[in-house]
Amino acid sequence: MSNIRGLHCRECGREYPIAPTYFCEFCFGPLEVSYDYAAIARQLTRDRIISRPLTMWRYRELLPVASETVIEINTGFTPLVEAKNLARRLGLERLYLKNDCVNPTYSFKDRVVSVAVTKALEFGFDTIACASTGNLAMSVAAHAARAGKRAVVFIPSDLELGKIYGALVFNPLLVAIEGTYDDVNRLCSEIADSYPWAFVNINLRPYYAEGSKTLAFETAEQLGWQAPDQVVVPMASGSLFTKIWKGFNELAQIGLIPPRRPRMWGAQAAGCSPIATAYAQRTFTIRPVHPNTIAKSLAIGNPADGYYALKTMEESGGGAAAVPDEAIIEGIKLLAETEGIFAETAGGVTIAVLKHLVERGVLARDGTTVAYLTGNGLKTMEALDGQLAEPVRIRPTLAAFQAAFQARELVPA
Ligand SMILES: *Cc1c(COP(=O)(O)O)cnc(C)c1O
Ligand SMILES: [Zn+2]
Repeated sequence: MSNIRGLHCRECGREYPIAPTYFCEFCFGPLEVSYDYAAIARQLTRDRIISRPLTMWRYRELLPVASETVIEINTGFTPLVEAKNLARRLGLERLYLKNDCVNPTYSFKDRVVSVAVTKALEFGFDTIACASTGNLAMSVAAHAARAGKRAVVFIPSDLELGKIYGALVFNPLLVAIEGTYDDVNRLCSEIADSYPWAFVNINLRPYYAEGSKTLAFETAEQLGWQAPDQVVVPMASGSLFTKIWKGFNELAQIGLIPPRRPRMWGAQAAGCSPIATAYAQRTFTIRPVHPNTIAKSLAIGNPADGYYALKTMEESGGGAAAVPDEAIIEGIKLLAETEGIFAETAGGVTIAVLKHLVERGVLARDGTTVAYLTGNGLKTMEALDGQLAEPVRIRPTLAAFQAAFQARELVPA
């Protein structure tokens, strides 16, 4: 498709052809996809989008693929839920939750992987690989199965069982590394140099990252073709955060929404908050950390897009905050009890940071707020060990039930 111009360096602007490369040979800056927005504006109308299936691919002109057939598993167009109960509890005027817990492999990663695997096939790769904090492994394994390609996925060895089995069921080569995600990522960069594999978040990273924009596209469409006033987004490498911003800007640029842009608020766990800490210290220099948090999907100590996330906060008038693990669990429970949504620890981070920012008067109470729930709670059940009421165990008799029920009713909630 002629809408894709090529790649350009985010630092020095040098241009590169479309290829499985990700950094500038001159300044080592990261590469990003460039588009011909004037051409896209002529092709992509609201009517055109509305006429297409309810998946992330309804915005395909704004995604970096050339092929007609894409590798996809019905990802996207997830619910934008108006959260009246939670809004009331927090004192917000209007709150929506973008529920990516219900994507095909239960996280937002299906969006980035669908683009990256489609691109990997365009480039002629036979093996799809990734360095994962957990959710990416399952999504890559599923998409590779769908494409009939080999998957080799690398994870830190201490992940939750739901993420390990969730990936293994698709029969990839799953490599569990004794180390942190940052160790996994460093090793994968070396492997990517010596094996002809498509590492979706390393050598295909410029394409992969573009998939996250569809969260902004859908949000705007679901709000009646407008951007919200403020959003809260969980951050690991910071890529998702910067691409949601890019997505809203692109829609405004091609005239599909008015030019109002949201304040971007980033959420991290205190046990791994290199981006939020840099924000708090008013510096653009990220100091890598050694992660120690239950929010394993966000546990990137040396975030590749941290600097650009900080720039996005500055440009949008937003910011970032971090919350401790106890607050993350409270966030998971608050979301479940008010809105009936079971999100993973990253969702707990998002809700806890939302609450934190409202309580401190940092986040405006009026206007429209959107919080992004990026992964499903069934994948991180270990985080709730000992944190919930026990089931009531009884013998199968009415008398046993009556006794147990009475005893339970006497316990103050
Ligand atoms: C990967 C992931 C993120 C964000 O990742 P980035 O590296 O910042 O793009 C957020 N939530 C969940 C559940 C994830 O798996
Ligand atoms: Zn450069």
